[in-house]
Amino acid sequence: MREHVETLNSLGVNPVEVRTLEQLAHVDALVIPGGESTVIDKLTRLFDLADPIKKRIAEGMPVLGTCAGLIMLADSLSDGTSDQQTFGGLDVTVRRNAFGAQVDSFETSIEMPVVSSTPVAATFIRAPIIEHVGPRATVIAQLADGTVVGAQQDNIIGISFHPEVSGESRIHKYFLNVVADALGSSER
Ligand code: GLN
Repeated sequence: MREHVETLNSLGVNPVEVRTLEQLAHVDALVIPGGESTVIDKLTRLFDLADPIKKRIAEGMPVLGTCAGLIMLADSLSDGTSDQQTFGGLDVTVRRNAFGAQVDSFETSIEMPVVSSTPVAATFIRAPIIEHVGPRATVIAQLADGTVVGAQQDNIIGISFHPEVSGESRIHKYFLNVVADALGSSER
């Protein structure tokens, strides 16, 4: 969370934390950070934020999900806990903790042509993978072996990894362009 704030600050944006409906109503876009997707699911339902977030996403609010954030954006999970729900919106199936217990975390660099012509730095921490990409979503990041680790569907961007812990800001910059486009088209 702190790293997302610092990355956005370095790009000239001052984000606010969203914990209440009131705060949600005042933001133009949302970053859903890593953490534990089952906890994000439980807490957002408990505090009646889940449905309003789903509604805003469906209305076109730009949203960037990293790691657990990607899990929250997936339309379906191949191994969610029995009562686990997601906000959805991104036409993908995600598998949680897909790199297994032995590979708890690793850093690498990956090709992400929509973001930059040079590879981006990516840290994977108990990361999910995108097992299936439906027709409404587009692959935007893959590991060298072809594993899909990023997808976009219009206003919704989900990536398996954490760019912000590697000091990588180009994905956030790309996201801010999506936000600017969305704000521009709503004012037209
Ligand atoms: N494994 C976590 C989950 O299932 C995600 C880990 C992370 O966000 N770094 O939500």
